[in-house]
Amino acid sequence: MATSDDPRRRIPRTDELLARFADEVGALGRDAVKRAIVSAQADVRAGTISPDGIDAAIALRLPESATTLRAILNATGVVVHTNIGRAPLSDAAVEALGRAAGYVDVEFDPVTATRAKRGRATLDALQEQVPDAGGALVVNNGAAALLLACLAIAGDRDVLVSRGELIEIGDGFRLPELLQSAGARLVEVGMTNRTHLRDYENAIVDAERHGRRVGAVLKIHTSNYRVEGFAGVPGVRDLSALGVPVIADVGSGLLAPERVLPDEPDATSWLRDGATVVTASGDKLLGGPQAGLVLGDADAVERVRRHPMARAMRIDKLTLAALEATLRGPEPPVTRALHETRDSLRQRTTHLAAAIADVVPGAEVVDVIGRVGGGGAPGFELPSLAVALPEPFAEALRLGRPCVLARTALGRCLVDLRCVPASSDADVAAAIRAVAVGNESGTPADDGGRA
Ligand SMILES: *Cc1c(COP(=O)(O)O)cnc(C)c1O
Repeated sequence: MATSDDPRRRIPRTDELLARFADEVGALGRDAVKRAIVSAQADVRAGTISPDGIDAAIALRLPESATTLRAILNATGVVVHTNIGRAPLSDAAVEALGRAAGYVDVEFDPVTATRAKRGRATLDALQEQVPDAGGALVVNNGAAALLLACLAIAGDRDVLVSRGELIEIGDGFRLPELLQSAGARLVEVGMTNRTHLRDYENAIVDAERHGRRVGAVLKIHTSNYRVEGFAGVPGVRDLSALGVPVIADVGSGLLAPERVLPDEPDATSWLRDGATVVTASGDKLLGGPQAGLVLGDADAVERVRRHPMARAMRIDKLTLAALEATLRGPEPPVTRALHETRDSLRQRTTHLAAAIADVVPGAEVVDVIGRVGGGGAPGFELPSLAVALPEPFAEALRLGRPCVLARTALGRCLVDLRCVPASSDADVAAAIRAVAVGNESGTPADDGGRA
């Protein structure tokens, strides 16, 4: 039996505590706060904390946010990293997300009080940046843009695609299967390593001989692998001479040539080469939110927009807002990371090494190879720099707060600042120091950073 002065009898009631944490209930939701309360009450009941400490215990157990997604400092040197959300948004795009969260005139003209074209400002921004596109459309993602373009432009006619461009985009999803599952009639031409223009020509003649017609030629940028050696496929310019619409999946979302990625195709160049439409992702090298772009011939884009399935791939107002801000606003982080100069990187990296030198004696600045990542430019090597730490730092940094994701190679943990906002360099230094603290050898303690 609990006696009258037993602390367990003084456990504040749940409704009383919920009232005390009303602000947090407003920010995080009742369930999240209640979970923290119940857990703290259990600790008082078990005698591990005193009733006076219950508020502090609840505060410690509250999540930082109503989402469990955790922010990551990307110190891998991989610019567009699919597992960590591809492109980080610019501050301008983040602001736009907040603004679009309420009621907004996404499909309404307040001046005339009539319905307006959905996302018109975003589409205008796209066409201003790609003047060669007579029309523009934005859907949910790159795969949707490609699928919709094939269905709307080719209909039930054949779509020719090179065997060298039948790609799996990740997580077991394959573009040809995606297209076929929705009813597109794909016809493979050429070989894995080489496809010639005459392969497409023969396929067109062959289709006619069998009473079918070719509705489009598909050109897919092999954005996640390279075929080297005795290899080659016709370019968009050659394909556009076939007299059949060319659907060109550029993938990366570069709207114009990018000087640091000379081999990466872009929407403007492929449209000038004669593509009927170009499709692309919004969250790769374009540096915006997840989205799929269809750019090109006005009539073709309008057909794509009017396809019944387009409604199932409609983009939301948040994405439209973030994409517009990415296109019109300041340079997004992806572009900034690509353009980060060696001088600036050397300065930041040297600074980081100096800031941790007293706690990690072996730390040194080394040359490393960065990657563009899942966004494009397969195999392209981005000369970069990193601070090399003992390998166990990688896990400890990953498990810390903030979560710092570094790369391991050759038995070392490599911290590459290219994709870290310069304003967070000090946070990276603090995270490394926190891991190293209390360990004279400069390797993390066993529980280092696992807060
Ligand atoms: C990434 C990519 C896709 C898929 O785009 P999502 O935006 O991921 O749907 C399709 N084609 C190519 C060439 C790509 O690089």
